[in-house]
Amino acid sequence: MIFLQRVTKRFGSHSEALSQVSLKIDPGVMAFITGPSGAGKSTLLRLIAGLERPTRGRLRVNGFDLDQLSARDIPQFRRSIGLVFQDHRLLYDRPVYDNIALPLEIMGYRRPEIRRRVRAALDKVGLLQREGARPQTLSAGEQQRVGIARAIVHRPSLLLADEPTGNLDPALSREILALFADFNRIGMTALVASHDQELVERMPHPVLHLEDGRIEARARQEAGA
Ligand code: ADP
Ligand code: ADP
Repeated sequence: MIFLQRVTKRFGSHSEALSQVSLKIDPGVMAFITGPSGAGKSTLLRLIAGLERPTRGRLRVNGFDLDQLSARDIPQFRRSIGLVFQDHRLLYDRPVYDNIALPLEIMGYRRPEIRRRVRAALDKVGLLQREGARPQTLSAGEQQRVGIARAIVHRPSLLLADEPTGNLDPALSREILALFADFNRIGMTALVASHDQELVERMPHPVLHLEDGRIEARARQEAGA
């Protein structure tokens, strides 16, 4: 579960990137964050992922108090989340398989278990036949699916995606969102940021609207916070 109480984030002496944001997302829910460029979507996701600290406010994710997370708890917290980025952030000097195996290697899984899980992840995103391919030989949509396989291979309970369809045409974008919905159906909580209002509104999931670092009142009611 994701719980934010009056969370404010300020970078240095700049104006507030997020102002008094409160929200609650229950386990098993898939929700979207929309809003124009600069509204604070990335900042919100980075805070929830523990990549940034809030300036003020309470932030609890997957049972961890992120506003006071100790260094000792960070690895365990990281394992409970998966991150998907707009630009995939794949390693282009090694094949698809190695890209997906990497987080498991960092976590100390044994080779047979890594093999099993990487194959299962590739199967889920429909790319089992491409495990030996170099990322640059894949289409943009396939590369994003590799990014998603890497994010879910360690079976996180929470999937966070920042503009995952930013580089894709409308048809591929819908395919990628359908994939997130598949993972959500098998129990993963998912929070997906997108500036593409039209795309997001085609989906049956709740939408949180950010504007100038604030959650709109309408969205707040829908999210029940
Ligand atoms: P979005 O993802 O909705 O485009 P961001 O979260 O990237 O919005 O940005 C929200 C605001 O915070 C913007 O004004 C942006 O310039 C500012 N911002 C984001 N990251 C930083 C940073 N590291 N340093 C200074 N300002 C930042
Ligand atoms: P960071 O720089 O914060 O480690 P990366 O951009 O390197 O994040 O993450 C790349 C991918 O690998 C992401 O999907 C992330 O979830 C995963 N990942 C990286 N390190 C870890 C880790 N220690 N535990 C779990 N997943 C990880």
